[in-house]
Order: sequence, then structure tokens, then C-alpha cells
Amino acid sequence: MTLRNLYCPWLLQPDGWQADRVLQLDQRGVIVDILAGDRPADVRLPGPVIPGMVNVHSHAHQRLMAGLSGRRSAEGDSFWSWREQMYAAIGLLAPDDLRVLASWLYLELMEGGYTCQGEFHYPHRLKSAEPLTSSLALIEAAEQIGTALTLLPVWYRYGGFGRAQPGERQRPFILDAQEYSALVRQLERLAAERDRLTIGLAPHSLRAVAVEELSELLGDFPGRKVHIHIAEQPAEVHDCIEHHGCRPVTLLGRHVELDSRWCLIHATHVTEGEVVNLAGAGAVVGLCPTTEADLGDGLFPATEFINQGGRIAIGSDSNLHTSAAGELCLLEWGQRLRRHQRNVLAGGAGQHLGSGLWRHAAQQGAEALGQVCGYLAPGRRADLVVLSPDHPLLQNLGPEAMLDTWVMAEQPGMVDEVWVGGECHVRRGVHRLRKELEPDFVRLRACLARQAGLA
Ligand SMILES: [Zn+2]
Repeated sequence: MTLRNLYCPWLLQPDGWQADRVLQLDQRGVIVDILAGDRPADVRLPGPVIPGMVNVHSHAHQRLMAGLSGRRSAEGDSFWSWREQMYAAIGLLAPDDLRVLASWLYLELMEGGYTCQGEFHYPHRLKSAEPLTSSLALIEAAEQIGTALTLLPVWYRYGGFGRAQPGERQRPFILDAQEYSALVRQLERLAAERDRLTIGLAPHSLRAVAVEELSELLGDFPGRKVHIHIAEQPAEVHDCIEHHGCRPVTLLGRHVELDSRWCLIHATHVTEGEVVNLAGAGAVVGLCPTTEADLGDGLFPATEFINQGGRIAIGSDSNLHTSAAGELCLLEWGQRLRRHQRNVLAGGAGQHLGSGLWRHAAQQGAEALGQVCGYLAPGRRADLVVLSPDHPLLQNLGPEAMLDTWVMAEQPGMVDEVWVGGECHVRRGVHRLRKELEPDFVRLRACLARQAGLA
């Protein structure tokens, strides 16, 4: 077997930074061995090397309206009024439009340090096409850009708690149990033929599925990762209490075991008791700080959760922002504002915030998406980000200080290269397809944003 050698002047490994390491890769881009010392290599990476970030929660179609929901209405705005605008935009999309949006988004996310996307996909029937069509558009987009993808087809049945009828605009999301199982099985067959694609399950929320229906679904697909939106908005918690007599996280925990199979997206509104139970149970909590801020959701008690052994990952969610560093920065800032302290998510005394938080989120994200990435060690895919040693704020610093600077004081040009599975897709901060794909995206966004009344 021919091995390829990548020399790393600095490498962030699970036990910290190491100088002068050589990654040995097999033909599929998986790390076979890591050798110590400055030795001859096929490629010499230009700066400190960190594992690619894993994005556990994305809705690609929402990139269409990034930044376009800023005009205040007479009644005042909320998550729920934003949702109506977003639903209207979905109504305009054809499957091929979704492919264009997702390609551009995955390109931008890769430039932002994400090498693996978790796509939580619910607009199944775009322009009344078969559900598989829109999923295929997402898979095609990921392959074109070179990103790893965990596709999370969403099971959406109801319009609200108490099995409420879905609204007209929710119709394209609705699948019954048979349709959902058939879609997951079709996607599983596609994933079996591909290296960087995995499939998970995604009951949308306890609003959109009945909690009693979950155990049968989990039994039908043993071992599949499960993602769910939970406790994002106060009104959702209120409705849950009204219908079930308890809060969403508690309700879910009464019906399923919240172990490492689960990823709870936006567990924003939780009690102290729920935090303790979740941390002990092993589920990953997926936080999307820029979207949660944009939608006025609130702040999850991440500090208390992590201090009790809880595991968190990050997601770009509405894709308003596409930088992994920016997402981590806001996560940390939110906790500082809550706690009136600094460096709360660094991972312990002596740890640097950038390295500690990056390592934690990448590793837990990979676990939540069932992907062999998230840290750089034998057996893992070589998904990595190389920081630029030439940026004025990064020059002549050690790797700890460079990563802290990127996370807390990000500027364009701080990322040099991004690799997935041993292939370099981003150089000098620019994806190889940026020029080629830009015109299609620009045309589509301008046209659909106008039609949706957003621009
Ligand atoms: Zn979401």
C-alpha cells in the first residue's frame, strides 16, 4: 500500500499540541500512523494543524435568507414570525435550487473551518417532487464541495403538540411512518456505497412527532444516531407542559434512554435537574450560538453542563454565519455574560480556550454524527484545518496563541488550508470552486429573495 506523508509543524492531538509530526495516510485519506520528528514528506503543511470542525446542525435552505429578516414589523418580531418568512421562502424552492444553495453553503462552511456537515433536512417535497429528490440534491452538493455529510432526514408529522394538524406551509415536510422508513432505507443504500456519507434519524421535535411514536422508530433503525430539536423557545416549553405536564427534555427522557445515540439540538430551556440528568445520560447537546442569538432563543447553561461531564457540539443551523471560530466565540461569550467570568469553557486550569473548546466540540460533534473524524489519530479520516502563519495577528506566535486568536479575534485570512479525507479543497482561505459557483448562487439568492419579499 502506498502511503502519503503530510508534515505538520504543529499538530493538535487529543492530548495537546505536538511539534514536528508526520501524518501517514492511506489511499482513502485515513490516518494510518503519526510519526514524530521533522522528516521528509510528500506535503509540508504551512502552519499549525487542527482537526476539522464538525457542524452537527445545518438547514442549507436557510442560507437563502441570511441577513434578510431585519426589517421590524408592526407587531414586533420573534422566532415564530421569522419562521413564517422562512416557510414562505421554502415554497419557492425547486430541488435544483436547494442543490445550488447547499453547494455554496458547504463551500463557505468549509472555508470557515467545518469539514463535516450534519444536514437536518425537512423540506422534503420541494415543488411537489418525491422526497428522495431533495435529499439527493444535498448529497450531490456535499460531493461537489468535498465535505463529509451526515444526512439527517427529518420525520415531521404534526403542526404542534397534541398531534395538531400541520399548517398549509408545513405540508412539504410531512411524511407518515412508512414514507419516512422508506426514505431512510433508500438513503442507507446510497450511503453504503460512499465513504463520507452517513445517515441518521431526525424526529423534528416533540411538536412535530408524538413522543409515543419514537421507540418504534428507534427499534427499526438500531445504532443510527438520533437528532431532535428540543426546548428551543419558551412557548414550546409552555405548550409541552400544557399537553404533557412536564418540560420537553423530561418528557423525552421518560420515553427513551438519552444515551450517546442522541443529540439534543438547542436544549436551551432546561432546569438544573434536567442538566444533571442529561450530563449523566451521555447525550450530546448541539448548540448553535449565532442562530440562537439571532432568533432570541436564550442561553443554555453550557458551563454547568460541561462541569458535570456533559458533552456539547456546535452547529451553524440557520447558516447566518459560517465560521466555526465565530460560533465557538459566541458560545463562550454567552457563558461569560451569564456567569460574569472569563475562559469558562476552556476545559480546566492551564488550558487555553481556543484549543480546549475546539478539541471538545470537534470530537463530540463527530460522535454525534457517527463520523470517523473529530480528532487526528490513527484510524480517523484526515479532515483538518491549517492556520495561516502569515496573517499579521498570527505571525511569530505559538500554536496555542494562534488558535486562541482565531477563535476570539477572527479576521479574514486566518485559515490557510482545509483538507477532507486527505484532499486539500481550500488554499489561502479560498475553496477551489469559489469562482465557478459564485454566479449561480448570486443569481438564485437575488431572484428568490425578491420573490419572497425579503429584498
Ligand atoms: Zn434546526
